Amino acid sequence: MTEQPGWSAESALIHGGTQRESGEPMVPPPALTSIFVSAGDPAAGPGYTRNDNPTWAAVETSLGAIESADAVVFGSGQAASMALMLALARGRDRILLPRDGYYNARVLAERLRPHGAEPVPVDLQDLAGVERELGRGPALLWAETPTNPLLRVADLTALGRLAAAAGAPMIVDNTVATGLLQRPLEFGAVASLYSLTKSAAGHSDLIMGAVLTRDPELLAELRSWRTLGGGIAGPMESWLALRSLKTLPLRIERQSQTALRIAAYLTGHPRVTAVHYPGTCAETLAVARAQMPGGFGPLLSFEVTGGAAAADAIVAAARLIVPATSFGGAESSWERRGRWPGEQAPASLIRMSAGLEPADDLIADIGHSLG
Ligand code: PLP
Repeated sequence: MTEQPGWSAESALIHGGTQRESGEPMVPPPALTSIFVSAGDPAAGPGYTRNDNPTWAAVETSLGAIESADAVVFGSGQAASMALMLALARGRDRILLPRDGYYNARVLAERLRPHGAEPVPVDLQDLAGVERELGRGPALLWAETPTNPLLRVADLTALGRLAAAAGAPMIVDNTVATGLLQRPLEFGAVASLYSLTKSAAGHSDLIMGAVLTRDPELLAELRSWRTLGGGIAGPMESWLALRSLKTLPLRIERQSQTALRIAAYLTGHPRVTAVHYPGTCAETLAVARAQMPGGFGPLLSFEVTGGAAAADAIVAAARLIVPATSFGGAESSWERRGRWPGEQAPASLIRMSAGLEPADDLIADIGHSLG
């Protein structure tokens, strides 16, 4: 496990991967190589970049510190999910996934079914329902909170207890919050999953994923799936991610404050019929505050009058907010989520990612777009 000599996660993120030896570049350049010079025993040091690369290792040191865990980085969030599903679903009958979570996790689980378990969609807020499903045989609990795109909050304390009682490993997709706002391993999760593409790297310029775990067996399995499956991160992307992680604490704090202001603004708007944000949802606010003490993240969604066509027109009318998918970047962006064929979001739902612009500018742009 990554050694942390008492420093905060924030300091670990800033110093992770930097060098202190005299004459060395403080910031190591990306190791842009497929091979390393090696003779003799191939186990000594990196030999081939599909097995190991020092630029990944630097990101892993830095990222792992956020949740006091070991990290394994992948070429995308989906590659990380695939390795996790392959590692954990084997020998289990079912994989319980949130029916309102990231839709490609459900699609992937369905595609991996011959190599794993039957995907079963569940409502993570219906604890009795989750318990019932867990009781029906060996299962994997694939949680996500807050969910994308409905931003529903699942109670990690309760889910962790149910999973432990059933002997089911729990994983949590922590992409939206990141370990700075929410630490799933402390609620009993065996793994915390990230699309680094989103909040963690936060500059909309790379695709990467990661799994954080404190379980040495799972760690070895994930590394082995990465090497054999080849879902590796490029050294250049890793270098960019390492640089970006240094500012994650500042970015996510600012984005959380801005998203909360926008959610409050939207709540009073006559064209808005529903607002989805952990910081303004009365039913789950106590749980959200308890498990996300540092803020509620950059992502929110809302529904508007007039259906899909009206939502499309609102998205197109923005002058500052970029019409685009994904989230967590410096530039605020939004999209009508139901435009994706596999997505099950309500037709008029607009998902918005609060960027780093001043909240007043964003609220002015939203006001203009809503007309
Ligand atoms: N998990 C969540 C919650 C996501 O939103 C996404 C992508 O949108 C992923 C995982 C997959 O990540 P990637 O696009 O990096 O493969």
